[in-house]
Formats: sequence, structure tokens, C-alpha cells
Amino acid sequence: MANDHLMNTYPRLPVAFVKGEGVWLWDDKDHLYLDALSGIGVCALGHAHPALARALAEQAGTLLHTSNLYRIPLQERLAERLCDLADMDRAFFCNSGAEAVEAAIKLARLYGHRRDISEPAIVVMENAFHGRTLATLSATGNRKVQAGFEPLVKGFIRAPFDDIEALHTIAEHTPNVVAVLLEPIQGEAGIRVPSPGYLRAVREICDRQGWLFMADEIQTGLGRTGKWFAYQHEGVTPDVITVAKALGNGMPIGACLARGPAAEVFTPGSHATTFGGNPLACRAALAVLDVLEGEGLVEQAATLGERLRAGLQEALGESPLVEEIRGRGLMLGIVLHRPCPDLVRRALDHRLLVSLQAERVIRLLPPLVLGEEEAYQLMTILETVIREYEAA
Ligand SMILES: *Cc1c(COP(=O)(O)O)cnc(C)c1O
Repeated sequence: MANDHLMNTYPRLPVAFVKGEGVWLWDDKDHLYLDALSGIGVCALGHAHPALARALAEQAGTLLHTSNLYRIPLQERLAERLCDLADMDRAFFCNSGAEAVEAAIKLARLYGHRRDISEPAIVVMENAFHGRTLATLSATGNRKVQAGFEPLVKGFIRAPFDDIEALHTIAEHTPNVVAVLLEPIQGEAGIRVPSPGYLRAVREICDRQGWLFMADEIQTGLGRTGKWFAYQHEGVTPDVITVAKALGNGMPIGACLARGPAAEVFTPGSHATTFGGNPLACRAALAVLDVLEGEGLVEQAATLGERLRAGLQEALGESPLVEEIRGRGLMLGIVLHRPCPDLVRRALDHRLLVSLQAERVIRLLPPLVLGEEEAYQLMTILETVIREYEAA
């Protein structure tokens, strides 16, 4: 199944999908799979959503790209929509999650320099994931992502996640901090939900210290957790947020949003991109927001997510293999007592797509269009897979 002409960066599963519809994917042998991963949290509207397909076809026949040398009305509309939803003031558009975090890192450093902090530092979390560019892998709290790419980018201070005391200690001893960057729920690390009150306490420290609170909402954002953005569960607002993944439902687009003084940091020349926010990508994102809103998918992620979680708890809570079921909305993790390295492959044999994080957390990120009956099917297949492991 390997291809000699692709760089060998992925241990790919031996399956190729050729068609999709909603939560379903067909492979080239016409087998049908239930997609509970959405292309890693990207296809929130599921596959081949007709409204998105129409918008893309229409835009492709009208105008794809002009560059940021000119005004782009669709980009301006998208910025306004996103800022309304997120309670932010301004947006910078790019093409991926890592680029959105890069923009946030650059913004924080510039913010520091404007305040005469010559070596600005950003507090980042253990087990965090922020991307694979040099700056974002340096911000990432996972040695596997960093190993071999040293020297890492300087200017990051590592703190344990969900530990407010650690931030107090950093505040006391480190004068050059300019920002805290964190995922409101850690995704790649295995759906780690911080304690209630943590984000609020981070907000308070940032206010007191004059630090920017930067939330990486690339995985949690745009309805995934049952609110538009995960920080809204705690009624706090960061200064900077990053979004990507679900924003284009597969059209590559990311954004860094900011409010207040943070929104005024970039000036002409300080940051740029050729493709970022082009008419095609913005048209896709506008269509995604229309569907999320029009079909009430954010609310549905909250209610169906809660039911799915309760159902999984009921079906698997007593399993000797299952330690915990956690998460929010349709971002769920089933924590196993021991590593199950071939679990993804076994699930694939049962025609179910999931991922395994940190060796023993089954991650579920189904499309937000998941129906009741499909949620039931998902639960049933998962139960079968886990029972097989119990028996083994
Ligand atoms: C996926 C992800 C990224 C990186 O996004 P890419 O589009 O792969 O560059 C960054 N942060 C978080 C929280 C993510 O889940």
C-alpha cells in the first residue's frame, strides 16, 4: 500500500476512500465506513454537504484568488461573522492550524516588544499540541514531535496543564512573560478536560500580569464541544484565539482572531500570506458557518454529545478495559487501562474510523451532522471492538 513517491511521513492504514456522504465513507472496494473522526475534526458538516458543494462550485466558477494586495469582500464578511461569534475584534486568515498558531506566536512577541520586553516568553503547556512548523512544534509539549528538529525555537516556558499554582509561580519568577497559550481541551493529548474554573483562573492571572490569554481552538472550536468555542463554557474571553480544522470543512483555511489591544498589534508589513483568506476558502468557511447555524449543529453537538457520552458510559463504563469516558459535546475520549496499539486497525475491520491518542485514548470527533441512529451504530461497533479486546 505504500507509495515510493511520497515522503514517508505517515504510517497509513491500508484503505483508500473514494466517496463520502454525511458521516459515511466508501472505499475503493465499495465497503461502507462510519466516520467518527471527520478527517481529524475537519469535516464537521460531514462529507459532500450539498450547501458547501454548491458554494464551492459557484465560487470556483467566479473567482478563486486575487491576493491580499486588494480588498477581498468575502474575507471581510467572514472576519465579521467570526468576530461576532467569538467576541473578537479582528481576524488574520491563513491556510492551516499551524499557521494560525504561528500568527498568534508572532503577535504575542510583537506585543511584548512594543512593551519593551526584548526577550518575550510565552507560557505553553505540557502535552500541548500546536502544530508541526518549527515555532509550533517548539510550543508543542510532546518530545516525539520535537525530536530530531533541534535547535528548537526559544521563548517558550513549559507549565503543567490544569495547574493554576504553576502559573502563579511563573508569574512570581519570570518578568518577561507576554502570553499564555493553551488548548481549552487538549485534543492530541487524549481529550484532557481541565478542572472547572481553570480557564477563568488563567484569565485572572493574565489580567493581573498583563499577559495575553491565547486559546488554541483549532480542534475545540466551531461547535465541536457544544458551544461555538470551548472557552464559552466558562464564560471567559481570551485575547487571541486560533481556529482552523472545521472552518473550511476540508478547504484549507485557518485564522488567528484577537480583541482589544492584541487586535491592533499587527500593522502593514508585520505579517503576510499569499493564499490566506482567498475568495474560495472564505466562501467555503462562510458556507460552513451558515450550515452550522442554520441546522443548529452547535446545540446538537451539546445534546447528542451528552447522550452519546451517557450511552458509552452505560455500555462500557463497567468494562475492565475502560478507565474513563471524558470530553465535551462531540469531542470524546474513551480512556483505556492499557495501550491497545492495533485498536484503530480493529475498528477499521469493523468499518469504523476513530483515532488512538497517547496510546490508550480512543478519540471520537464525529461530524456534527451525526444523527441519533448513527450515534447508536457508533456505540454498538465500539462496544463490539472493546469486547473483543476484553476477550483477548
Ligand atoms: C490540528 C491542530 C493544530 C495544527 O493544525 P494543522 O492544520 O495540522 O497545522 C494546532 N493546534 C491544535 C489544537 C490542533 O488540534
